[in-house]
Amino acid sequence: MKIAVIGAGPAGLTAAFRLQQAGHTVEVLEALPVVGGRTHAEHFGPGHHCDTGAGWLATFYSHTLRLFDELGYRDHFVRQRAVRGAADLLIDGQLYPWSYRAADIESSPLLDADDKRRYAAYIDHLMQVQPDDLRPDLGYDHRDALDEFLPLGERPVEIIMRSLFEGPWFARLGAQSAAHVRLWLRVLQDSKFFQLDGGMDAPWLRLAESLTVRTGEPVERLHRRGAQIELTCASGGRRYDAVVLAAPAPAALRILADEPDLAPPWLGDVHYAPQVRVYAARATSEDAHFGVHLLPPTDLFSVEWYSGRHGAWGACPPDWQWALVCTYGATCAKFLGQDPRRVQQTLWDEALAICPEMFTLAEAEVIHYMGWEWAVPIMHPGHYRNLASFQNRPPVVFAGDWMNNACVEGAVRSGEAAAAAFGRT
Ligand SMILES: Cc1cc2nc3c(=O)[nH]c(=O)nc-3n(C[C@H](O)[C@H](O)[C@H](O)COP(=O)(O)OP(=O)(O)OC[C@H]3O[C@@H](n4cnc5c(N)ncnc54)[C@H](O)[C@@H]3O)c2cc1C
Repeated sequence: MKIAVIGAGPAGLTAAFRLQQAGHTVEVLEALPVVGGRTHAEHFGPGHHCDTGAGWLATFYSHTLRLFDELGYRDHFVRQRAVRGAADLLIDGQLYPWSYRAADIESSPLLDADDKRRYAAYIDHLMQVQPDDLRPDLGYDHRDALDEFLPLGERPVEIIMRSLFEGPWFARLGAQSAAHVRLWLRVLQDSKFFQLDGGMDAPWLRLAESLTVRTGEPVERLHRRGAQIELTCASGGRRYDAVVLAAPAPAALRILADEPDLAPPWLGDVHYAPQVRVYAARATSEDAHFGVHLLPPTDLFSVEWYSGRHGAWGACPPDWQWALVCTYGATCAKFLGQDPRRVQQTLWDEALAICPEMFTLAEAEVIHYMGWEWAVPIMHPGHYRNLASFQNRPPVVFAGDWMNNACVEGAVRSGEAAAAAFGRT
């Protein structure tokens, strides 16, 4: 079969690779001039780049790591994460170790004995009943995360759960599925994190070299033409036997606007949290070692300031310092429509109020603003149950992190599932 894959993020490139392996003729159509999607890394000079989207992989990313092993990429790209990151929690001007592991919570001065007992019992229960491979338990998907965590008491919810889930998934607990937070809380108990040499997109750039990829080719519409599918692209109409739609859900919905019966009825309900962050760096050999999470909701979710030798969300020369300021996703949409230069100054000023010793933007030699309208799909209550009732049906099959799990591993799994729907030639 001649199959088009729309979108060259981890989902689309995985699908394209597996389809090619299965003997199909595959063409990947990517809107942007570059591949990698939300794993894109920005390069500033020798040994210096920052990951603008995804910043880490983890030991429980079994399909991603298996794919990298198969391609011979593991030794080449995958490294234990060097950076300590935002490992402290800042509350009322005081720093506390930030943790979600039951063993570390035991010594926390922020929780009382009852809080600790309830938390330990909950994690113990989760370790026994929740699968350890990022699989949702559909029995919990009708509830939201706040409902799930309320029995733990107010302090564990405010101090552990909000900073753990509202920060990295950029959405309020009440908007997230209980099944989603349970599966992550389980795997995070005994995991290690990796970063990738050359940037989070490096393996995807390499994989794309072995595929036929047309960049700068946004797909606008999809139409059925007899047994074939026609895609309206920047370069004109292109015909295929089948399509893997590996673009974020709102883009997929737009592409299917003239063929609504090909879209699952709930596709329009898949919403994304936005994210705005600022990276800056300057040449200096002075040491710096500061990384905090803040308790949401605030404009900022984390402030990190390190010397280059402590690593980065990417890589920074050892005789430089870098800093990364991330917003709290659930409230940062207001920044997206504003002038980026003004936003970056506002956010940096807020970060300097937290860490006055940090360098100013005027002292920085590199400044990079990152604004994502669709940063991460919100796995809202009902999301996984809706997915479970949806079958991948050629000739139009969906892929993307929203089809599995809001991370690179979810995207890879969704790409493999999409390719499997076509079988071998
Ligand atoms: C700030 C941030 C931090 C993150 N941190 C992490 C992390 O630490 N770890 C982790 O695992 N995940 C993280 N993620 C999530 C991770 O990046 C995504 O889950 C993953 O990239 C999803 O892959 P995908 O292929 O489904 O989508 P994408 O990576 O978004 O790829 C989709 C591709 O489709 C293209 N496209 C869209 N519309 C069209 C069209 N009409 N025609 C053609 N092409 C189109 C896009 O340009 C894009 O290249 C983070 C994301 C962000 C934004």
